[in-house]
Order: sequence, then structure tokens, then C-alpha cells
Amino acid sequence: MNKASRLFWPVLITPKNAVVKQTEQLSRSQKLLMELGLIKSGSNGTYQIMPIAQRVVDKCISLVQRNMQEAGGQKISLPVLTPAQLWKKTGRLEGDISEFYMVRDRSGKQFLMSPTHEEAVTAMLATAAPISYRQLPLRLYQIGPKFRDELKSRFGLMRAKEFLMKDMYTFDVSKEAAECTYATVSDAYERFFRQLEVPFVKVEAATGIMGGSLSHEYHYISPVGEDTLLNCSACGYAGNAEVLGSDAETASTCPSCQSTQLSRVRGVEVAHTFLLGDKYSKPLGATFLNKSGKPETLQMGCYGVGITRVIAAALEVLSTEQELRWPKLLAPYDVCLIGPKQGSKEQAPVERLENELLQQLTQICGAEQLLHDERKELTIGKRLLDAKRLGHPLTIVVGAKAAQQEAPQLELHASGAEKMELSAAEVLRVVATHVQHKQQLLQQQQMPSHEQDTSESQAVGHVH
Ligand code: ATP
Ligand code: MG
Repeated sequence: MNKASRLFWPVLITPKNAVVKQTEQLSRSQKLLMELGLIKSGSNGTYQIMPIAQRVVDKCISLVQRNMQEAGGQKISLPVLTPAQLWKKTGRLEGDISEFYMVRDRSGKQFLMSPTHEEAVTAMLATAAPISYRQLPLRLYQIGPKFRDELKSRFGLMRAKEFLMKDMYTFDVSKEAAECTYATVSDAYERFFRQLEVPFVKVEAATGIMGGSLSHEYHYISPVGEDTLLNCSACGYAGNAEVLGSDAETASTCPSCQSTQLSRVRGVEVAHTFLLGDKYSKPLGATFLNKSGKPETLQMGCYGVGITRVIAAALEVLSTEQELRWPKLLAPYDVCLIGPKQGSKEQAPVERLENELLQQLTQICGAEQLLHDERKELTIGKRLLDAKRLGHPLTIVVGAKAAQQEAPQLELHASGAEKMELSAAEVLRVVATHVQHKQQLLQQQQMPSHEQDTSESQAVGHVH
């Protein structure tokens, strides 16, 4: 079980009369995560993830992983360093390279600290023994740091210079097969975003420097979003203004049906998918042997989810100015239990109940998902304030009313809801329901596409 007294949780304390020089615009998630000691700034644009937030990152990784495995993914790890030579071959060192971190080894050989891994993974396949059509499709993914010297790194984890990405690269025998893979991985992405229960929008996107023929982005709607999304309520068209060219920001008619029922929202891009064709496989010579034993160029796709950005953007959408609110599957703990204060009247009579509850809660949600705030030197009020700011889905207080002879009552604070006074049995039932809800989310299957428009995702629109 997790004990609050042992938790490393370096809360940011600003002395009352300190003059705070605000050099950087802060977003809600960044402010709360930093103030509460969940992340710390390493240097401009890099972040240190502290234990509570690391739990969230690990949960997000395991959820993404689950969905990638369901889409036929196999996990690999590629080095952070990619030889610059490979990027020369694909022509990606020719444009603006100011975002890339380039380093040299002792012999002068140049490398990129990879901002993405298309070249590295394609070159890996090109040098593997000839791949047979029988081995395809191949869907390889990894989860690791990416490095981009962003011009405007800001909003904490949302736009960092080093961030965590899940990137999948797929290889198929033909364009048609690659399109099937694209549909399968897109289904996995939609399932992942539904499991997080944060409203998302899937839009048609620009292919940009990544290249390829088809691309979609997944966005969370937020005023701190840096993209403009267009949505047509007449035909359901949704697109990133970027894809529509320079006058899209001001356009008044839908690019698909020309209706004027067009609205605009700000979006944070949380994931991106691309159908790449042979843009990387051709210059890097990644082929497979077809049925007649002849080499043919592999057809590729690439698919990225910004793990750390998803977490920050979800918090941005769900949280209040004062309190974090988590997607249920990502919350650091399911339940926080606060017991009586040291030396209080109720301490002796309710401690037994507190211990019993701990045991029962362990049975229901598992010791790992339970946080016991046993800092008994602190008042219940102080600990409850911490619990609320941290946004635990359920906080249980064993206080004075638990000492009542008849019908002892506990306080239950569900994240974002009014306090409830309940018996121990009732509290345990609420916890069991919460755990059950999480299980249901995990078991969620891909919905048939015709049901998606009415799904809870409240997607502003889908591309047809
Ligand atoms: P943006 O337009 O926001 O700079 P991008 O289009 O350059 O993002 P991709 O190359 O598509 O990003 O990367 C895949 C995913 O990685 C993005 O959808 C996003 O979730 C995440 N990501 C990209 N850049 C950052 C960053 N600087 N910090 C955190 N996450 C990022
Ligand atoms: Mg993108």
C-alpha cells in the first residue's frame, strides 16, 4: 500500500510576500502539476517527472500498449541516436533543421537525437534478412523519448523539447493492405481515446514534412490549443485549418459541402496518423519478397501518440483552476484514505475502523491503487485539501462521525462531486462500482463505425 508520509512530492512553495516574475504563460495543467510537485522543470522545455505523475505516465503507457497489441503491434526499442546519413537519404535534412538536436561522436560522425524514427526503423528493415510477403503486415511500435528543439516550448508537458511518444511504424505488401492496417490502427486509437473519456475530435490533417497521402489528427478541444479546427454541422466534415491552405482561418464555407454552417474551435493535437506509401521505404531500399520471389518496395504507415501531451491535455480539459481531475484509467490512485488526527478525541475509537477499511479496500481495488494518508500530525482538513487538489477519484475520511456508537458515518469525496456521508458498507460499494467501471472501460471493444457518431466521445465530427 502507498503511504502519503513516504511519498516524494516536492510541492512548490512560494513565500507569501515573494514577487513572482511571470516570464512564461502557464496553462492550467502546467500550473497545477508544478505547484503540486508532480513535475519539476529540468531546463527550458524539459521536465522531471516525480513519483505521483510517473504512476500516471506508466498507466498511460500500459493503456496505449494494450491497444497497440490488440492492433497486432509488436514492441521494439530503437536508439535515440539516428545516423544523420539516413536522414540525408530521405531528404529530410534539406529543409529547416533548426528543430533537430544534432550531435557528433568522437570520430566526427553526425547523429540526430531522434525527433521521430521513420528513417531508423525503415533502415533497420532494409538491412534485415529478406522479408517474405508471408511475414506481412508488420506493425512495430516503441515508447520512448523524442527530442525537438521547439521554437516555442510552452505549457509544460504539452510542448516540451523532450517528450514521450508512442510511435508505430507499419509495413504492408500493397497500398490496399496498408489502408487496411491504417483502419485497424485508427480503430485502436479511437478505442484508446474513448477509454480516456475525454471528448476528442478526429480531423483530416496536413501531411507536412512527414509526407504521405492520407493523414488524420486527434485533438482535445481547449483554449490553449494551437490548432484551428473547422467543423461543419451540415455534413459532419471536420478538418484542421492547416490542411485547407492559408485562407481557411477565415473561410466561411465548408470545404466539403460548401454550406455556411461552419464553426471553429481551438484544438490540442494529441495523436497523428499517416499513410506514408513508399516515401521512406524507397530511398532506404526497404523491400520484401513477393509471391514470385521478386523484391518489392514496402508500403508504410506511421502513427504517433504523445503520451506526456495526452496526460497534460486531458488535465487541461478536465481540471478546475484549483483541482486536478484525471481520466479514471490514469488517476495515480483510485482511493485515498484519511484517518483521524493524532491526539484527537476520535483517534482511539475510529482507528480500528480505519484499519478494517484499509484491508477491505485492498481487497476491492488492490493495495497498489490505494493511498493511505497516514500523516496523522496533520489535521484532516489539511490532508483533505491535498487530496482534493491531487484529484483522487475517491477520498474517504474516517473522522469524528465515524466514532458515533450508532450508525458510524464516513465522508466520501468523489472527484468533482459534493461530499457524501455514508456507512462503511456504502462507501465500499461506491469503490467497487468505480473499480467495475474501470474494468468495463478496459474491456471496451471497437464500436461498429455506424454507432460512432452518437458515441460518448462527443466528437465534433468525423471525416467520412
Ligand atoms: P505539433 O504540431 O503540435 O508541433 P507535430 O505535428 O509536430 O505536433 P507529430 O510529429 O505528429 O507532432 O508527433 C506525434 C505526436 O507527438 C503529436 O500528435 C503530439 O501528441 C506529440 N508531440 C509532438 N510534439 C510534441 C512536443 N513538443 N511535446 C509533447 N508532445 C509532442
Ligand atoms: Mg502532427
